[in-house]
Amino acid sequence: MRREPRNDSAIVLRQLHYGESDLIVSLLSSDYGLLRGFARGGRKSVKRFGSALEPFTQIRIRWQPGRGDLISLLDADIVASCRGLRQSLESLALAGYAVELLEMLLQEGEAQPQMYSLLQGYLNYLAVQGAPALARLLFELRLVQQLGYIPHLLHCSECFVQFDAGEIVFDPSRGGSLCAVCAAGGDGLHVGLGTLGSLSRSLRTPIGQFDEFHFGTRTLNEGAAMLSLVLESILPRAPKSLRFLQQTTAPDEP
Ligand SMILES: [Zn+2]
Repeated sequence: MRREPRNDSAIVLRQLHYGESDLIVSLLSSDYGLLRGFARGGRKSVKRFGSALEPFTQIRIRWQPGRGDLISLLDADIVASCRGLRQSLESLALAGYAVELLEMLLQEGEAQPQMYSLLQGYLNYLAVQGAPALARLLFELRLVQQLGYIPHLLHCSECFVQFDAGEIVFDPSRGGSLCAVCAAGGDGLHVGLGTLGSLSRSLRTPIGQFDEFHFGTRTLNEGAAMLSLVLESILPRAPKSLRFLQQTTAPDEP
């Protein structure tokens, strides 16, 4: 069987030391989605890999199918190292959190060009000290939207009436936003129409764009609460990285 080498853009999600000098890396590639690759000599071969296999690095890879699920990485070149992520513990924690969400929610072996653009834009934005709360909210929102959740923001999930004023109840277990009539008696989160409008508008921008958004404190807070409800309802367990992230964002003791 011929095994032609393939080229692809990829982002390193995680690396695992294997034996004396090899590495196993998880990648999100543009054309092939989630991949796990074996890099022979990955820890020592400066010529073939250099520091290209560090987590969160954007690379061009040449690879071929290997044994079982693991592809065999032939070489890798750095496109962007995102070194700026390492200047802030919070940015680093946010990068790790996004990677864990993708690994929990994406299927292996499916092309993920949109998710690739999303992660790339997010890491690039965090690497230049972008606003952490905004980055996290936009990432989570676009991720769940791509996966087909919360299709209903600006109209009621159940009776489809368009909202034009007032408080709206958001309940992901019932499809998203609910009008006062449909929400009566149930629980859910009360959010402002302004928040839903801002989130909805942000979904009409390119998926990898993170700069030039101006969300107010209310939108950031309500949006964060909405997205944690959505994620709780779709994740099989709480992400491990969430704890570290919460520690890095804990408000300073007075
Ligand atoms: Zn309704």
